[in-house]
Amino acid sequence: MDFGILTIFPEIFDSFLAHGIVRRAIENAIIRVTPVNIRDFAEGKHRTTDDRPYGGGAGMVMKPEPLAEAIARTRERIPDAAVIMLSPQGRPFTQPLAQQLALRNGLILVCGRYEGVDERIYTSYIDDEISVGDYVLTGGEPAAMVMIDAVTRLLPDALGGADSAGSDSFSDQLLEYAQYTRPPVFEGEGIPEVLLSGNHADIASWRLESSLIRTLLKRPDLLKDKEFSDREKAVLKKWCRAVEQLISG
Ligand code: SAM
Repeated sequence: MDFGILTIFPEIFDSFLAHGIVRRAIENAIIRVTPVNIRDFAEGKHRTTDDRPYGGGAGMVMKPEPLAEAIARTRERIPDAAVIMLSPQGRPFTQPLAQQLALRNGLILVCGRYEGVDERIYTSYIDDEISVGDYVLTGGEPAAMVMIDAVTRLLPDALGGADSAGSDSFSDQLLEYAQYTRPPVFEGEGIPEVLLSGNHADIASWRLESSLIRTLLKRPDLLKDKEFSDREKAVLKKWCRAVEQLISG
């Protein structure tokens, strides 16, 4: 996967790209990430990338010409990449969207700054507009990192462990089950015995139950349109019976 990042602050990505799974994915040639400085495509002594908004008002707007040039040059290098504008007005970035994007060969992520980007850039240069949440950041760079991180961990061999991403939260509309590691007792609290049993079927059952109940308690919205398997229905019925018994005393 080839990521191009268009930004006026490319150095923001130095530390991000030098750590953890992302770093390893770069070293193993699973991803290539190229921050591109939009300023390099701006004209004039000061290489200005912003200007005052037509119609007046606060803040500055990113000029279209340097951005258009930066996108065109990056597209030449990654021809089949989707060009994505990071924007609070975009469609929400979710795990299913990360999974879709992970199937592509390349993504060009455009990081806005100031009050945003001249609207005319959308006409011929932007394929998609994506938001990382209903809040406003000062720039698209943290959003680009979120997307690169979430997409990279879905790529084959990026995580090392064979199936590590398969049970992650949001796969199959469920949050991941509770996790424990050593010590076996922490501040007087132990761990579920089944996890020490070595019985893989029992552990899988316990994990499914943990996943379902956590999702029901923390994010019931995720279960709304879910098609439950017979095993999942059985777990929910068991908990229903337990709650009914509690109520009826
Ligand atoms: N004035 C714009 C608005 O209200 O829609 C917000 C501009 S914001 C201060 C500057 C840049 O940060 C945006 O152009 C975008 O690239 C990025 N950004 C801000 N919030 C974001 C979000 N939730 N998701 C993705 N990008 C975001």
